[in-house]
Amino acid sequence: MAYVWAPRNAPAVEVQDSAERFPVHRIYCVGRNYAAHAREMGNDPTREPPFFFSKPADAIVPNNTTIPYPPRTHNLHHEIELVVAIGTGGANISTTTALDHVYGYAVGNDLTRRDLQSAARDKGLPWDTSKGFDRSAAIAAIRPVSTEGHISRGAIWLKVNDDLKQQGDIADLIWSVPEIIAELSSLFELVPGDLVYTGTPAGVGAIKSGDRMEGGIAGLQTLVTCIA
Ligand code: MN
Repeated sequence: MAYVWAPRNAPAVEVQDSAERFPVHRIYCVGRNYAAHAREMGNDPTREPPFFFSKPADAIVPNNTTIPYPPRTHNLHHEIELVVAIGTGGANISTTTALDHVYGYAVGNDLTRRDLQSAARDKGLPWDTSKGFDRSAAIAAIRPVSTEGHISRGAIWLKVNDDLKQQGDIADLIWSVPEIIAELSSLFELVPGDLVYTGTPAGVGAIKSGDRMEGGIAGLQTLVTCIA
């Protein structure tokens, strides 16, 4: 195959204790998946079907990276999240077999230009500029299911400059990982390499230049991202 120029390398995520990387196909995200966060955003946390948005695959930011403060925002927010890495594709996957499609789990930070998101939400406009901007998908190394199994509970937290800002438990997801995979795969055919950011607990807030974010989930590699 000849290209008019060399294609860019596939965006990829580190795999814990491995020299091999997980090649990213798409990045899907779930909105409002913890009741306390839905409330803090002014929404009713009633169990309506999960809704999805996406980020470009090359929005990935590896662990321990310093990124520039993004343009066109004055209200950049952190959102610490459990990320599901899809290893086996499929469409219309059932909740009973959904976990068979998971390659592993990682800690992610769904960086958000909250001011642009609020403006878009008020006008019923898309979220691409508020959610899918460059360097908006921080992620630590993926822990394969083959090493320590699945994650359905455990602490999730985020500190900004050592101040605890977000705290929750994976058990409090409104839509569980199997339910997310079932619903998402009825809308899109999942492909090995897809990542799913599963939503953030309460405590989101603004970060500024010079801040250091450190977030974790029990049993997974801690994610550190700094803002230049
Ligand atoms: Mn989010």
